[in-house]
Amino acid sequence: MTTTRDFEVVIVGAGPAGMCAALYTGRSMLTTVVLERGIPGGELLNTEKLDDWIGEKSILGWELAKKFEDHSKVFGAEYVTANVSCVTRLPDGTFETVTDDGNRFTSPAVIVTAGGTPVKLGIPGEVEFAGKGVSYCAICDGAFFKQHTIVVVGGGDAAVEEADFLTRYAAKVYVMHRRDSFRASKILQERLFANPKAEVIWNAVAEEVLGDDQGLMSALRIRDVITGEVRTLDATGCFVFVGFRPNTGIINGHFDHDEMGYVKTDTIMQTSIPGLFAAGDLRSQLTRQVTTAVGDATTAAIAVEKYLKARAEGSVVTPEGTGGYAI
Ligand SMILES: Cc1cc2nc3c(=O)[nH]c(=O)nc-3n(C[C@H](O)[C@H](O)[C@H](O)COP(=O)(O)OP(=O)(O)OC[C@H]3O[C@@H](n4cnc5c(N)ncnc54)[C@H](O)[C@@H]3O)c2cc1C
Repeated sequence: MTTTRDFEVVIVGAGPAGMCAALYTGRSMLTTVVLERGIPGGELLNTEKLDDWIGEKSILGWELAKKFEDHSKVFGAEYVTANVSCVTRLPDGTFETVTDDGNRFTSPAVIVTAGGTPVKLGIPGEVEFAGKGVSYCAICDGAFFKQHTIVVVGGGDAAVEEADFLTRYAAKVYVMHRRDSFRASKILQERLFANPKAEVIWNAVAEEVLGDDQGLMSALRIRDVITGEVRTLDATGCFVFVGFRPNTGIINGHFDHDEMGYVKTDTIMQTSIPGLFAAGDLRSQLTRQVTTAVGDATTAAIAVEKYLKARAEGSVVTPEGTGGYAI
């Protein structure tokens, strides 16, 4: 049997952003449900350890996730395990959030914190050595590769820019691309070409991540797509930048987004759909970190409280007192 339940706020996704938003909406005494398809934690559960969460010099990803989850429930937010299929703004300005099992959650405001998914190479060893050499985040993991030889895979802005960034730590950075030119902007390319620690390998694809007897990555097997030659690069890190897909498919109807599909918001995290707020990795912004996700979420949760108050009074909530969206 399916159910329909009413809340003041529905939060989609229990990564750092969703859990932080729940803490704040709960603290504002708003009835809150967090809908999460898996175990709460989001990408923290794919992160071996973090050394950039302020206040903890080093903390395991799952440990931080558990702390977030426990804390976020203190003020009464309810967690439901469910995969959200659709969030729709109804003609009366309220939202209906539907899950795969057919249950419905209605609310006057929704915060979407569904994150995104790094595109994988899909080669043997990639999953096995994730967090043990294979990474999808240079800012997060670069510092673990001081004086290592690493490979960056990809040819867009992210790959070229992050490869240049990684030379701060690594002794040598190979940048491997399946074509004979980068898609990245010229200025980023020039910076990389001028970097003595970087070496580009054109027309090559990764075939397998190899490991040592300690379970860490030790090399990458690659294939030249023109000659077919296969060789092994001695590298203890492989940073994959072949795309990142924001999980925005659940939002029904048009919403403003950037050219990569990330959701655009105003400064109070409201999307172009009034009452629909977005926070964390799926939002269009400079960088994607736990700190930025929880910062977004804090703003979104407080904005929701103001939005609901304004809605009850028949007025509007505006970012910084200028413009804004009608309710
Ligand atoms: C390998 C790796 C290492 C990283 N290391 C660091 C680091 O050291 N330091 C740092 O600051 N940042 C790090 N990051 C980045 C950081 O993890 C993210 O910026 C952060 O997790 C974003 O939080 P979020 O809540 O926006 O999204 P996510 O963490 O992606 O959480 C989104 C949640 O939404 C859920 N969800 C998605 N779709 C649905 C749906 N339809 N229905 C229900 N639930 C749904 C997902 O299951 C997930 O739990 C790392 C990222 C990766 C991939």
